[in-house]
Amino acid sequence: APTTEQLTAWITRFAELVHEHRDELTALDSAIGDADHGSNMDRGMTAVVAALTEAPPDDPAALLKKTGATLVSKVGGASGPLYGTLFLRMAGAVGEGFAPALRAGFDGVLARGKAEPGDKTMVDALGPACDVLDAGGSVAEAAQAAADGRDATVPLVARKGRASYLGERSAGHADPGATSTAYLLQAAAETLS
Ligand code: ADP
Ligand code: MG
Ligand code: MG
Repeated sequence: APTTEQLTAWITRFAELVHEHRDELTALDSAIGDADHGSNMDRGMTAVVAALTEAPPDDPAALLKKTGATLVSKVGGASGPLYGTLFLRMAGAVGEGFAPALRAGFDGVLARGKAEPGDKTMVDALGPACDVLDAGGSVAEAAQAAADGRDATVPLVARKGRASYLGERSAGHADPGATSTAYLLQAAAETLS
């Protein structure tokens, strides 16, 4: 199972990637949403890193709980409760390993958001990553699956979230949440291998 140090490195690297790609995430959300995914995620992850630095949690579950709770409280959009649920649910399974934890988090996202694969959401990046890990693949392979899943959202018509209001006009752009989730897995590949 991952250590507190490894998970801290993961979360910190994700925050960096979100910050670096803030404008890209916002541009994607301006195409099919309300142009706030980059600012939502950057605000949330900046608050997470501040909370973890101020009072470093003692164990992996506490770290993931603080991460999830901070996102829920700091991010008002769809992504706050969804990413918050992902990390909060991971906390309950992280003792079993990263793969079972990510699967538990994914199940939480599905239960909370009710999206299905192909609805053009973060589910389309997270699901393939979980499948690769459950099949014994490496975190790097899971990150590649998440990136492929993000790319596969481009032609899809959104059926959940704000992008669904656009109907057919949502096709032709990558989903913002699937894009941030691909960075979440990229950060994992860089820190948890
Ligand atoms: P908002 O849509 O409230 O402005 P964000 O822009 O931060 O929130 O996040 C939008 C992203 O949230 C979408 O790109 C999509 O990936 C994800 N999302 C929205 N609704 C759902 C849902 N029901 N299930 C899973 N993911 C969702
Ligand atoms: Mg938005
Ligand atoms: Mg919004």
